[in-house]
Amino acid sequence: MPGVTDASDVVIVGGGLVGLATAHALAASNADLRIAVLEAEPGVARHQSGRNSGVLHSGVYYRPGSRKAELCVDGAEEMVRFCAEHSIGLERTGKVIVATSPSEIDTLHELETRGRANGLAGLELLDERGLREHEPHATGLMALFVPQAGVVDFVAVAERMASLLRDRGHEARTGFDVVSIDRTASEYRLTARSGDEWKAGYLINCAGLHSDRIAALAGVDPELRIVPFRGEYYVLSAERSPLVRHLIYPVPDPRFPFLGVHFTRRIDGTVEVGPNAVVALGRHNYRGEGGVSVSDLAEMATAPGLWRLGARYWRTGGSEMIRSRSRRLYAAEARKLLPEVQAGDLRRGGSGIRAQAILRDGTLVDDFAIKQSDRAMHVLNAPSPAATACLAIGRTIAQRALAAIP
Ligand SMILES: Cc1cc2nc3c(=O)[nH]c(=O)nc-3n(C[C@H](O)[C@H](O)[C@H](O)COP(=O)(O)OP(=O)(O)OC[C@H]3O[C@@H](n4cnc5c(N)ncnc54)[C@H](O)[C@@H]3O)c2cc1C
Repeated sequence: MPGVTDASDVVIVGGGLVGLATAHALAASNADLRIAVLEAEPGVARHQSGRNSGVLHSGVYYRPGSRKAELCVDGAEEMVRFCAEHSIGLERTGKVIVATSPSEIDTLHELETRGRANGLAGLELLDERGLREHEPHATGLMALFVPQAGVVDFVAVAERMASLLRDRGHEARTGFDVVSIDRTASEYRLTARSGDEWKAGYLINCAGLHSDRIAALAGVDPELRIVPFRGEYYVLSAERSPLVRHLIYPVPDPRFPFLGVHFTRRIDGTVEVGPNAVVALGRHNYRGEGGVSVSDLAEMATAPGLWRLGARYWRTGGSEMIRSRSRRLYAAEARKLLPEVQAGDLRRGGSGIRAQAILRDGTLVDDFAIKQSDRAMHVLNAPSPAATACLAIGRTIAQRALAAIP
């Protein structure tokens, strides 16, 4: 049944941090442009942007010269200013990355080198005693202290960007689940599940877990697939939470774009342990076995890249799945960093699902990926640290879009 038709100059699909920051940057650069953000859920930041660790990343992990490195460092500074201006909770606490086996020490040195190349000042390599001065209950052979890292209330950031947009007379429409896109010579016509329609001359796809699907609906081959990787958290009991001052991270496995199970004292003071990384059988499968999506599963079964990835890393993937079901094994992993943690100190927390792009040959796309096409831009890979970097990512997309809009 046809519904209401609205229009704007630019339409952005996705009311997560990246879509909202893009709208924010467009609105700041061109006051005449009519901008709309269309979000499927009843509120903004209901997926990755509202279900993450809440960590302000520093840029220490990323290859110098990559988009992640540049946009994370710039974006973190912009996030600090945005939160100060709008009285949103953000604390730059610093963090430690801890090597617990000799094989991790080279990687730790490599992180220090990367961090310096990415412009981070004040990085400090610590011995076990130095580590204990920062985190008295942590243990390890060597650690890297990163002063720029911190914690932030990303949901408040997203909500503030949506309200700023509305205050300026733009649209941040929720409950608009885009199910089809028609392209004519001069405009895109987006149709929602409700039957409502939206027309716009320029389309920006920031649909996170569905960005490959939105690109395909708009007639663009994304040349990759989104694979949902669920990250599950535990919460440290209130009595044991003093074991963690700020942020304690392991040295990441350089084969994967995930940072490993870490301890995070969030902006509200609770201490989380996690997230792990298991392939989620469904793009919104936050619950595990109970939330399997048959259609997503059928689609995943036909993705050659996923089969190739599985063949390469079945051992790591299998042990992540086993650990995901066992609090005892999860606690054993956490104990590598914090020996005093026992399984009984952990209770199950929430979960988030990462939208991780994978190529047909099974390669996990490491850097942010943005594809420009005729009167459209598609953000096809924006995993961590895209929450930290959202203001810089949004500014970059806005500049490119404004250059392309006649
Ligand atoms: C477990 C986990 C931990 C993380 N930790 C951190 C961290 O500590 N620090 C950090 O910087 N980053 C972190 N990240 C990464 C960060 O959260 C994401 O990179 C970032 O939020 C991506 O934002 P986004 O706007 O691209 O995606 P999303 O927040 O997922 O937004 C996409 C939006 O598009 C909407 N949408 C999808 N399809 C449609 C459609 N058809 N019609 C309309 N709307 C649609 C969705 O409903 C959604 O709201 C983490 C991610 C996860 C999952």
